[in-house]
Amino acid sequence: MELIGDKNFRDVVVDAVGEEIFTCYQCYKCSAGCPVSFAMDMLPHQVIRSVLFNQKERVLSSRTIWVCAACETCTTRCPNEIEIAKVMDVLRQIQQESGKQAKEPKVPIFHKAFLDSIKKTGRVHELTMIRNYTQKSGELREKLKTGEWKNDVRLGMKMFLRGKLKVMPPKCGGVKEVKKIFEQAKEHKKA
Ligand code: SF4
Ligand code: SF4
Repeated sequence: MELIGDKNFRDVVVDAVGEEIFTCYQCYKCSAGCPVSFAMDMLPHQVIRSVLFNQKERVLSSRTIWVCAACETCTTRCPNEIEIAKVMDVLRQIQQESGKQAKEPKVPIFHKAFLDSIKKTGRVHELTMIRNYTQKSGELREKLKTGEWKNDVRLGMKMFLRGKLKVMPPKCGGVKEVKKIFEQAKEHKKA
């Protein structure tokens, strides 16, 4: 059995989300309500089943964990109060810590660009975030090649004229506090 630290995969997930996960009786309510199930390669109830069967590779190499929009509809619908959205979160984290490439590699790049922007200014600055994301994901190259960048500029101008985009990062009073939250999260991860 493959271990993460001194624990197996299923135990790590159970520790993070609670023992309610064992009460899953595969009623399918989570999957039936998921708004993005059409784009998934494993449905939420199948993810839960696979976690309980300790099928680490199957789950971590799925597209589902990256397609999940964290909307929590599944969690709300579950009759056994299983925190399915949190399971998805934990799985994303374990996948990233594995050092392997995600099935949808642009999603974690987007997450990182979003969080980096908040960490720096205390609030998301869309232009910085999009610049970092498009550079690191390779989308900038693709857009330059296909001419798609022109549509982005047009949309960006419209948003700018309506006051929805700021050229400079916003000033936020709580930057220190926000940085502290990031540090605490880092410490918590190490513990
Ligand atoms: S809704 Fe809850 S009990 Fe039903 S399949 Fe999903 S996780 Fe299992
Ligand atoms: S949290 Fe994820 S898995 Fe659950 S319903 Fe929303 S998109 Fe689907």
